[in-house]
Amino acid sequence: MFEEVLSRLGIDATNPNPGVFAGAWSDSTSGETLTSVNPATGEPIAQVFTASRPDYERAIESAREAFAAWRILPPPQRGEIVRQIGNALREAKDDLGLLVTLEAGKIRSEGLGEVQEMIDMCDFAVGLSRQLYGLTIASERPSHRMFEQWQPLGPVGCITAFNFPVAVWAWNAAIALVCGNPVVWKPSELTPLTAIAVQRIVNRVLEPQGWAGLLNLVVGGREVGQWLAADERLPLISATGSTAMGKSVATTVAGRLGRSLLELGGNNGLIVTESANLDLALRAVLFAAVGTAGQRCTTLRRLIVHRSVVDRFVPRLVQAYRSIQPGSPWDDGVLLGPLVRESAVEQFESAVAAAKSQGGEVLCGGRRIDRPGYYVEPTIIRMPKQSEIVKRETFAPILYVLAYDSLDNAIALHNLVPQGLSSAIFTDRFQDAERFLSALGSDCGIANVNIGTSGAEIGGAFGGEKETGGGREAGSDAWKAYMRRQTCTLNYGDSLPLAQGVRFEV
Ligand code: NAD
Repeated sequence: MFEEVLSRLGIDATNPNPGVFAGAWSDSTSGETLTSVNPATGEPIAQVFTASRPDYERAIESAREAFAAWRILPPPQRGEIVRQIGNALREAKDDLGLLVTLEAGKIRSEGLGEVQEMIDMCDFAVGLSRQLYGLTIASERPSHRMFEQWQPLGPVGCITAFNFPVAVWAWNAAIALVCGNPVVWKPSELTPLTAIAVQRIVNRVLEPQGWAGLLNLVVGGREVGQWLAADERLPLISATGSTAMGKSVATTVAGRLGRSLLELGGNNGLIVTESANLDLALRAVLFAAVGTAGQRCTTLRRLIVHRSVVDRFVPRLVQAYRSIQPGSPWDDGVLLGPLVRESAVEQFESAVAAAKSQGGEVLCGGRRIDRPGYYVEPTIIRMPKQSEIVKRETFAPILYVLAYDSLDNAIALHNLVPQGLSSAIFTDRFQDAERFLSALGSDCGIANVNIGTSGAEIGGAFGGEKETGGGREAGSDAWKAYMRRQTCTLNYGDSLPLAQGVRFEV
């Protein structure tokens, strides 16, 4: 089955695939390869040539050339090209979704959901292409008109993580394109095949129309990401990944006074109050904590439960966890697939050991599963307090449970971690919900009531505070990060009054 899908997506399972797409040119000259591995089996899927520095230069030049023409195309015409990309993705949805499952280990419906998110982003961007509004501002000077307009920024460097191997690219690429900017994409070295498949799909739309240089791909490791971060020809670097990566990229980009858009680690909490609908909370916690094998930036990692309900709620949760059977992500009915690599299993094991040494009681799970691939048990650990390990993001299905006595105490616990991405409260008391959403409440970029922490819609601006990096992507007015704001004042009178009443006459 996989061979056919790979071949339909233009992936060669026998020979190394080109890892650089620069305009109509695709190849690599480095001679070095990396191997994409199936996390469900640990077996290789295919090989990819990585980008050499000359290959990288070619991709940047291709983006720069495309920028010269693309930036003057009216935005709705740019939107028309993005519409066609969205349609091409629609046609490839089943195959591409399966490749996401194969390469990232997500279950089938999540693999398909990821491609749907790409399509949704294209649709959103098409509408946006007619709505890049600027304000008209009252001028203090007679016969003057003041307004602001938004101009394209230039080629955007896009560094993405393994866990959303294609959706995060779409968040960036669809918006960057309608804003007038080409993109140079460096995908995760763990998921290069999905990136190549996407590139082949978009090239079928772009090449016949002479726009191949708009979307470029450079496969490689951290070093290639560092080339992007340091490159003055890229006014914006959008980087998604760990906080350690974000600190490195942010420092490099700031050193050249470039702009960075950071989507980094999360350590998301959910508060269950005394009045919560526990049936609803149970379902939400399961999806948020176990979905994607705990490998979402928005995965629920900290469950903060009122002391009066903790002994009713947590045993039900443990029972539900025990009913989840890990399995091959492409099999029907499977809800829990593998972690991405052996190193992720080791991090899981070391976090469980650290939690135990910090007083944690493992209520279920806690071990790796003895089968090929990188499987671990979904794990719940009751913690006496929010110790050091709880404040860290471990990219695995570990849920720490903490009890609280007052809502103020719960919110303080909730906010007392370095990350600030997603947050939730389950309550049927509107005062508690409003407090959680007030300035005294959650300090995260995303705050939900009676909804889990993961599974955001694309219509809102996505991102978080503190060590999550402060970036906002996808919907709302996140597009402004991809454009240059220009304030314009036009004098249609025949005198030259100065602002603030300043007189300067000879
Ligand atoms: P990672 O940081 O290991 O790698 C992410 C990307 O950054 C890869 O392409 C990698 O090659 C590149 N990279 C690594 N170090 C770099 C450096 N110094 N300079 C330039 N590029 C560098 O992350 P990962 O393991 O692929 O993904 C998991 C992490 O991503 C988690 O922390 C997760 O929370 C985070 N994430 C955040 C969001 C969000 O929107 N906030 C979304 C998805 C994932």
